[in-house]
Amino acid sequence: MVSIKENLEKVTAQLPNGVRLVAVSKFHPVEELAEAYEAGQRLFGENRAQELIAKAPQLPEDIRWHFIGHLQKNKVRAIMPHVSVIESVDSVKLLSLIEKEAARIDRTVDVLLQLHVAQEETKSGFSVDEVLEAGEAGELTCYPHVRVCGVMAMASLTDDMEQVAQEFDLVRRTYLTLKDGPFDESEDFNELSMGMSDDWQVAVKYGATLVRIGTAVFGPRSY
Ligand SMILES: *Cc1c(COP(=O)(O)O)cnc(C)c1O
Repeated sequence: MVSIKENLEKVTAQLPNGVRLVAVSKFHPVEELAEAYEAGQRLFGENRAQELIAKAPQLPEDIRWHFIGHLQKNKVRAIMPHVSVIESVDSVKLLSLIEKEAARIDRTVDVLLQLHVAQEETKSGFSVDEVLEAGEAGELTCYPHVRVCGVMAMASLTDDMEQVAQEFDLVRRTYLTLKDGPFDESEDFNELSMGMSDDWQVAVKYGATLVRIGTAVFGPRSY
């Protein structure tokens, strides 16, 4: 059996400089996360609030937790003490609530704006038009306790890598439009989080700075 350590080494050896790995540990037990931690991994991604809250206190404090799932408004307060980056901000309302909860415990939190570019309707995120409109309206840049650090997206679940490439390209262009527009004064807006186990090589070609990889590190999930 291939170990988590070997999987991690294999993936990280292929990542160009400047691209960081978020090890997506959802549905895997803390023992497996500890194994990845021992191998040097510090960024972990979880997509359910309850799971993040349960796991974080059992593992070392220097882990940086990325929240990558749809975040319900009533869960923002609970994850706030644990999370380093909320990658899945999909509305202005959620952004305002994150500001409020971060201010409440006197911290600043990093977030990414999730874009919906995939074909599946079930995936969440701002449409390209919505995010650009919110940016123009000043609704993305008025939060003293939130650093908006870039964008996150998932491509369609398909074997058609041409389709996936087009979607990542759209994400990259939207990121650049925001960076040159509402975020042109921001030193923080630098991250492009895209690419999972089956498509991260394509994402890297389109400028990903964060790849979120689960299966290729921890093996298949048993739901
Ligand atoms: C589960 C998940 C991943 C990782 O998926 P794999 O195919 O296992 O690498 C990445 N991003 C998000 C948002 C996820 O929910």
